[in-house]
Amino acid sequence: MAYDKFWKDNPKLNKTEVMKLEKDGLQIFNDIPYYAANGFDSIPKEQWDMFKWAGLYLQRPKEAGYFMMRVKVTSGLMTNEQAIALAEIARDYGRDVIDITTRQAIQFHWLTIEQVPDILDRLDKAGLSSSGACGDITRAIVGNPLAGIDPNELYDTTELVQEVNDYFENNEEFSNLPRKYKLSISGNIHNAANAEINCLSFTPATKEIDGERKVGFHAIVGGGLSSRPFLAQPLNIFVLPERLKEVAIAITTIFRDFGYREKRHLSRLKFLVADWGVEKFTEKVLEYTGPLPTKGTNELVGWNAGYFYGAHKQKQPGLNYIGFNVPVGRLNSAELIELARVAEKYGNGAIRTCNSQNVIIPNVPDENVDGILQEPIFDRLKERPNSFVGYSVSCTGIEYCNLALTETKGRMLRIAEFLDENIVLDVPVRMHMVGCPNSCGQRQIADIGFQGIKMKTKEKGMVEAFEIYVGGTLLDGGKFNEKLKGRIAADDLGTVVLELLTYFKDEKIPAETFFEF
Ligand code: SF4
Repeated sequence: MAYDKFWKDNPKLNKTEVMKLEKDGLQIFNDIPYYAANGFDSIPKEQWDMFKWAGLYLQRPKEAGYFMMRVKVTSGLMTNEQAIALAEIARDYGRDVIDITTRQAIQFHWLTIEQVPDILDRLDKAGLSSSGACGDITRAIVGNPLAGIDPNELYDTTELVQEVNDYFENNEEFSNLPRKYKLSISGNIHNAANAEINCLSFTPATKEIDGERKVGFHAIVGGGLSSRPFLAQPLNIFVLPERLKEVAIAITTIFRDFGYREKRHLSRLKFLVADWGVEKFTEKVLEYTGPLPTKGTNELVGWNAGYFYGAHKQKQPGLNYIGFNVPVGRLNSAELIELARVAEKYGNGAIRTCNSQNVIIPNVPDENVDGILQEPIFDRLKERPNSFVGYSVSCTGIEYCNLALTETKGRMLRIAEFLDENIVLDVPVRMHMVGCPNSCGQRQIADIGFQGIKMKTKEKGMVEAFEIYVGGTLLDGGKFNEKLKGRIAADDLGTVVLELLTYFKDEKIPAETFFEF
């Protein structure tokens, strides 16, 4: 393959690159049956990282031999049968823990290698996959959770997302990228797929071509969070839906063959885009695709951050979608099975996941809306949640993650509940908590972001603490939040945030948002 030749003799390749050249990440699927039959101790340590290509990470502490598994839910679209299959895996193997991620995926914990073949088999039968959910490969494609039902969508991206996913999934031509590679494809005019923080995003656009208004997409590249966050920038191209896959392949090929492979922390596409600039990057794309129309009109009109609470009319007359809160994205198998039951009883069985870690039940006829809202499951998974719990997002944190410096999920929820008990605002304030700079919980785009650190104190020695960042948004192209001075011991965080929000409440004008303040 081209990139083999390109990189093989480079003495500066990092350790992971050498590992990937010796054995393609997707080969791990061939090894899993042997390891499952012979137990965790049969897995050589140097193979641990390869499991990522199967969507598996060793959870904290690695030596204990428990895996976290991420399952892709492309564009967040899940059938009733898929929801039940996922719930049953968590019930039978995953100690009943189900997390919805900020990329609309589902995560399990506590899995052993012996259980993995049956889990992969169940996923396959349900039409789901964990392949490429982690690793240096095209990750789960984020999309519009309202695809096909959105009264405001410019284009129904359901099939496009599936087509691009199917092309890259298990494709060994693209399973050795320099680093993780995140795509979003959405026709939602409110930027529900957080376009600017992905490596490559397709956003709704129009252009007059031969006297006719065509609907299509703009391509923006080079976004990403972690410790050096970048906002994606637009290429000077307009992409008709029928050419989207071809453009996605061209850009992924450029990343594969020209992306940096020497230093892991500088290998994401964002660094190549930053070095080349969008003009050179556009020229390179055109070398692969041939001529494309230049940019048209950007049809994004705002940013809803992936929140859809309450009942709303679909584009189909007489049908509604209803958004519900899953506090910090965590639920158990009984809850997911119950969600599937009510989705079947009152809708058509489908459930959709959002990058705000929440869910939507679509296709509910007008006459069923009151009935579904009376179901007891929604006493906790509220349609109109309390303000702070409803707008809190959290990464996995120290409970399972090897990179975490602090606890996050439980703490974020406790702080949100404390704030809901102690302050009422007339606008929501989006809070995101992460346990390290990797930012799986997308701290940079929050109104208030919390990033976990360790801090030395006189009284207690080393303690968990947080940095606070304010003012993040993806409105108008986006702006990352900025760090406030100082660090706050984790035990004091709730009180300090309450003081901050009390100041906001006292000084703001009615309806003014945190970002505008
Ligand atoms: Fe782990 Fe850090 Fe990601 Fe949180 S942000 S899940 S602590 S890697």
